[in-house]
Amino acid sequence: MKHTLRLMRIAGIEIGLHYSWLFIFAVISVSLAAGLFPQMYPEWDPATYWITGVLAALLLFASVLIHELAHSLVAKARGIPVASITLFLLGGVSNLEEEPQEPKVEFVMAIVGPLSSLVVAAVFWGLLQFVQDTRSPLAATLGYLALINTVLAVFNLLPGYPLDGGRVLRSILWAKTGNLVRATNMAATVGQLMGWGLIAFGVLQVLAGNVGGLWLALIGWFLSSSADASRRQLTMSEQLKGIRVTEAIRTRPESIGPDTSVSELVNNVFRKEQRRAVPVCSDDKVLGIVTITDVREVPQERWSLTPVREIMTREPLYSVSSRDDMNTAMTLITKHDINQLLVIDNNRCTGIVNRADILNYLQLSQDLGLGRRGRQA
Ligand SMILES: [Zn+2]
Repeated sequence: MKHTLRLMRIAGIEIGLHYSWLFIFAVISVSLAAGLFPQMYPEWDPATYWITGVLAALLLFASVLIHELAHSLVAKARGIPVASITLFLLGGVSNLEEEPQEPKVEFVMAIVGPLSSLVVAAVFWGLLQFVQDTRSPLAATLGYLALINTVLAVFNLLPGYPLDGGRVLRSILWAKTGNLVRATNMAATVGQLMGWGLIAFGVLQVLAGNVGGLWLALIGWFLSSSADASRRQLTMSEQLKGIRVTEAIRTRPESIGPDTSVSELVNNVFRKEQRRAVPVCSDDKVLGIVTITDVREVPQERWSLTPVREIMTREPLYSVSSRDDMNTAMTLITKHDINQLLVIDNNRCTGIVNRADILNYLQLSQDLGLGRRGRQA
């Protein structure tokens, strides 16, 4: 994910902070220090409000991290590689390298998040029992964290995909019907309905004079749009599975040599063939890839003097083989946020496949009425 601050590594998992979290962190600190605490504990002094507010917000952050780590550690234990965890606006997201292959794994992976939030809530509540002065900042912090972690657990257990509860629901439907696509569609529909419900409820709250309703509406909007996005994503990957890259796309095996000038590249390849990227090879060996983005970095008056080897991308070169399917290609393209992949067979570059080609292929299949090809698995 872009716009992420790297924080640390835990058990080989990169922990990152999306910039939106800084904003939410500020909002939570302020609403505690200037809202909740002064209201509940008027006898504290101003510095105490702020120190307690910031501390509670930090501990909330740690709680969300524990929730995400629970998902990720179970995933890792079940053999699913986890690249990173990103904490962002409304919680966290674990970036799994692949989806679970069976319902049981998905069930355990999903349920363990809310369960760990409940455990964290219980720990804070337990600690609270040892605090003598129930109006002290320590008691206030512990009480707040016990409550907020319970709320986190309950909210995440709502059965709308892609919330944890929605994943639990999907895994049950998946086990029952044996059809992942149908299960996802149903769970995502529940997610969308819930999102709309939250938006409606939030708007009603705002109309009734409660500004807090804005949060509910925002969360609702986020839920319904991510339900929709996950459904599209899955439908797409199901359509692309099992179809070889070379079967569906003319991969244009032409390449250019490293000494070709940028102006030759622009005039003879990009303009004439309407291409946006081309492999750079020498004696059949792939040296790199040169794209329109690379060309744009060179001033136009230097195009005839600059050989492509000076501007091409050498590493990392992402590639598939011509036996790989389109879903593998699209997953790589999405994951690395790139526009094209090299097709490499036996160390030789046999072509290039780009995002637009895959999207065109999908559109064409849909226009031909070959769209919804649900997989029975
Ligand atoms: Zn979760």
